[in-house]
Formats: sequence, structure tokens, C-alpha cells
Amino acid sequence: MPKKNEIPRQEMPVQDAAERRANFDEVALGYTQEMAVAEASRCIQCKKPRCIAGCPVSVRIPEFIDAVREGDLWKAAEVLKDTNSLPAICGRVCPQETQCEIECVLGRRGEPVAIGRLERWVADWEREQGMRVPEVDEPTGKRIAIIGSGPAGLTAAGDLAKKGHTVEILEALHIPGGVLMYGIPEFRLPKDVVGAEISYLEALGVSVRTDIVVGKLFTIEELLEEYDAVFLGTGAGLPMMMNIPGENYNGVYSSNELLTRTNLMKGYLFPRWDTPVKVGNKVAVVGAGNVAMDAARSSLRLGAEEVHIVYRRSREEVPARAEEVHHAEEEGIIFDFLTNPIEIYGDEQGWVTGMRCIRMELGEPDASGRRRPIPIEGSEFDMPVDTVVMALGTRPNPLVFTDAEALERTRWGTVVADESTGRTKMERVWAGGDIVTGAATVISAMGAGRIAANDMHAYVMNSEGGEWWPEPEPEPEDMEAV
Ligand SMILES: Cc1cc2nc3c(=O)[nH]c(=O)nc-3n(C[C@H](O)[C@H](O)[C@H](O)COP(=O)(O)OP(=O)(O)OC[C@H]3O[C@@H](n4cnc5c(N)ncnc54)[C@H](O)[C@@H]3O)c2cc1C
Repeated sequence: MPKKNEIPRQEMPVQDAAERRANFDEVALGYTQEMAVAEASRCIQCKKPRCIAGCPVSVRIPEFIDAVREGDLWKAAEVLKDTNSLPAICGRVCPQETQCEIECVLGRRGEPVAIGRLERWVADWEREQGMRVPEVDEPTGKRIAIIGSGPAGLTAAGDLAKKGHTVEILEALHIPGGVLMYGIPEFRLPKDVVGAEISYLEALGVSVRTDIVVGKLFTIEELLEEYDAVFLGTGAGLPMMMNIPGENYNGVYSSNELLTRTNLMKGYLFPRWDTPVKVGNKVAVVGAGNVAMDAARSSLRLGAEEVHIVYRRSREEVPARAEEVHHAEEEGIIFDFLTNPIEIYGDEQGWVTGMRCIRMELGEPDASGRRRPIPIEGSEFDMPVDTVVMALGTRPNPLVFTDAEALERTRWGTVVADESTGRTKMERVWAGGDIVTGAATVISAMGAGRIAANDMHAYVMNSEGGEWWPEPEPEPEDMEAV
């Protein structure tokens, strides 16, 4: 039997790059039981585990890993589900390399335990067995509305249902799941995995009402008349464009439109399904975050011959996860660094035929700490393309705020909420996830959903008194003026 420190980190088997660029099946194939037990055996069960603090929902990582090593998989699943109601999703899309795994002591001298891959393996095993649904607390008689069914809303809903409240999710789209369903592609996060985790919440008693656009059908004010508390988890789904000439040509997409048509409307199954999604032979995706990688890799699978990522900074500044960039490169995506489009042009029928671009160089760091890209005069050139996808970031859609003047917002359109409770400035309204932070991560949205659910429970059960939004204590110098 090799010693713990002699067992190598178990690599994740993946579909061959040449094959997978032509299908929407999941790229990562998952561990075998043998690999999972070998990986679990690498964990040295630290007395003071730092990995737990690295996880925004505080999964008891060493405990579930030890259960895997012991072969007690029901226990492993229970430990995971105790603090994370969506483990099969987190095991697939969380940036573990900057959260739990970066804290793993094995990473100091070698490679950290593959916590995310083990989490995924346990959650998949549990799904295959048929999930066990825990008992929920006695009904409290309190009614809670959750607006939006992304990871923030789903987590808050699950936690509140377990505490015995009547929880209703109101979702604008016809399928719940938020970005998990409409944004992240099937080849990274299969939709039946998301569907199964939503079914688990329904089994806890959560009811999901789709096709309800809050702000249009009801306002938040109206919901407050019917419900004891409201959680706002409507994300940041409003795409940003570059505002350069030519963005109205046919063949120019926002990443949201391309990915929604592909994932939610199953565009890649057209004409078997009824939503077409047309990409040309040569596609340029502008931006280099996770969303850009998903748009580029989806375009390839939709039949494009050549797909470029066009990014105004250099490789070092790329915001996407290293694994996503690696997979994209393996599949043949071409990266054009230090390049920025300045105009899109097209033909007489109104279809895009190319982008005029300019080369960039990096100057001094800007407010974000990254070196500022500066155009190089006279370096303009034409890039012939027949599809352009803008993947430049998103903001909250303001529609939900109709008649909710009391909700304070920042100049970026995000909602102001207290970090430790999720309370907004509007009484009985909590918020969490991308609507508060701007576009962030699945697990941070889940963490915010959990924090808000705890405070909502305490509030509706009257176990916490005090002001709704206590004003901060005056600073000592202000005291003199009082
Ligand atoms: C393409 C893509 C890839 C990503 N990849 C990753 C990744 O690999 N790892 C990672 O951690 N994060 C990733 N993210 C980010 C992550 O998905 C988000 O941070 C997360 O989903 C935010 O969760 P949320 O619950 O706040 O909002 P969302 O997931 O956006 O859900 C909000 C929900 O609210 C609904 N809604 C909006 N307005 C209304 C209204 N007025 N009435 C009713 N319902 C409404 C929306 O339809 C949606 O279902 C990715 C994002 C995108 C777009």
C-alpha cells in the first residue's frame, strides 16, 4: 500500500478533444470508484482543516472525504448535503483552485486533494441510487417568495423549506435553474444533473412557478402583501455590448442570446427542437472570461470551422478558469490577444462580414489592478468573420425593481444588501447572488442565499429584534460634531 504522500492526484478522464468538439456531451467523464477512493486516501485529515474556510458554504470537506475512503457513501452524501444542496453542480463548475483546494496543505509541496472531483463523484453516486430526502421541520405557517431560481434562489429556498416555511419560487423563464440552465453549456454541466437537484428541492416542499416576470406581472410591493418575506435572486442577466458601429448587423450576438438559444432552447437539436441558432464558419468571440470560453466552445460544436477569442489584454490577464482555457485550446479555439474590435461591418443584406480591429499594448495598472490596454496607433486591420459574439460582462436587469423605490442600488445597478444578513434597504426584502455582487460565481451566490435564509428565518420567527437596517455607529470624529 503506497503512503498517502506517494499517491498521485487522480486525473479526471475526459472525452478526446477531436471527438468532443463535435458533440454536446459532457467533456469530463468522472472518476471511477477506484480513482475516488485513491484520491480520498490522499487527504491527511488535518486537525485544523483550512479547506472548510475556503468553501463559501463551509462544506465539512475532510469528513465527507473520509467517508469516501471508508466506503460509507451515504454518509459522504449526507455530509455534503448538510451544507450544500447542489453538490453535483458545484463539483462540476466551482473554481475550486481558488477556493477550497488553494487552502489544502498538500498544495504547498505538491498537488492539493481534488475536492471538487470527489464532491461530483459522491453527488453522482447518490443521484444514481435515488436521493434520500431529509425530514423537514414542522410547518411554521410563514410564506416566503423567492424571486429567481438561480443558485442563490435555489439555496435560499432549500434552506427555508427545511425550516418548515412555505416557499414559492417565482421564475421569469419557462425552466428553473438560472444560469445553470440557460448559460453554462451541456458539455460542462448536463441539464439532467441540474434538473435532479431542483427535483430534490421540490421534494423538500419548495414549489416552483415559472413564466412569472416580477416587475411585470407583480411588483415586489405587491408580493409583500401576500408573503411574510421576499428574497431577490434575479442575477445579472443583462448583457453589455461594446457600443461600436455595426453591432446591429445580423450575426452579432450577445453571449447570453447565443447560449440561451443553445442551452435552454436546445438550438443544437434544431430542427428536432424548434429554436434555430445559426453560427457561420468563422466566429469571433470578444472577451476572455468563462462566458467567452463557453460561447466559443459552443460555436465550435454548432458547426463553426474556425473560432477566435479576441481579447484586448494578454494571456496573463485572462479571467477564465485555467481549465476552461486549456480545454478550449485543446479543442482548437484560436486566441488573439492584445486585439480589440473598433467596428463591425457587413453586406447589403445586413449580415456581418468582418470586424475592424486594432492592436493593443499594456500600460500601467488601472483601478482593477490589471495593466491598462492602450491602442497602438496605425495598427488597424480587418478580421473577416461571419459571426460575432460579445461576451463582455452583464448587469442586473432593472425590470424587477418596478415600484420598489426603497431598494437602494449602486451606480452599476446592483442592489445594496448587508453582507452578514442579506437585508436590503427595503423592509422584509433580502437579496443575494449576482444581483448584489455583479457577475460572480455559483458558490458565492449559494453562500449569499444561505446567509439570507438564516436571517429570514430568524426574522419571520421573531427570534431577532432590533432595527431593520441599523445605522452605523458614528466615527469618533463625527461624535465631536454631535
Ligand atoms: C455562461 C456562463 C458561464 C458561467 N460559468 C461559471 C462557472 O464555471 N463557475 C461558476 O462558479 N460560475 C459561473 N458563472 C457565473 C454563475 O453562473 C453566476 O454567478 C450564478 O449563476 C449567479 O447566480 P444567481 O442565483 O445570482 O443568478 P442567476 O443564475 O442569474 O439566476 C437568476 C434567475 O432569476 C430569474 N429572473 C431574472 N429577473 C427576473 C424577474 N424579474 N422575475 C422573475 N425571475 C427573474 C432569471 O431568469 C434567472 O433564472 C457563469 C455564468 C455564465 C453566464
